[in-house]
Amino acid sequence: MFGAPGHATCGSGHLPPASGAPKPGIAARTLEPPALPLISVTRSQIPGPSMLIYREFHFEAAHYLPSARAGHPNARIHGHSFRVRISVEGEPDPETGLVMHFDDLAAAIADAREALDHRLLNEVEGLRAPTLELVALWLWNRLSNRVPGLAEIHVARDTCHEGVVYRGPQNPSRMAAE
Ligand SMILES: [Zn+2]
Repeated sequence: MFGAPGHATCGSGHLPPASGAPKPGIAARTLEPPALPLISVTRSQIPGPSMLIYREFHFEAAHYLPSARAGHPNARIHGHSFRVRISVEGEPDPETGLVMHFDDLAAAIADAREALDHRLLNEVEGLRAPTLELVALWLWNRLSNRVPGLAEIHVARDTCHEGVVYRGPQNPSRMAAE
């Protein structure tokens, strides 16, 4: 076909919002240095070294986007190859040298992959609008109680050059331990 370049079914099918929330800034009339301190930073708030381990998997699935305008390719059922990266934050165990055994991580994510692979994502419970964003959120909700230290979920459609990175709420018990 001699259509527009790129993958016709990539993208959300609607335009991004015209503008985001205004960014905080210094009012133009502020000519003198403000009194210090503006922000009280304690040592515990300063990011220290961190280590992320990750495991990736792929799945193939079909979807359509209910929000796509009539006639847009995203309104029709079509398929993608998805790549998912599950990242876990932690410190290597002094004895094993492992943040988490990769076999344990693989086992935890296996059933999530099974629930998505070769499915019509709109029919997966909790995924009626299976955008990249909501697939990442779905994965987070599915894995957060099973993967200690779950830190980040990356979902990509590489052939579309699109992806999303989601960092969900951290496990309270883990935060308290730090
Ligand atoms: Zn699509």
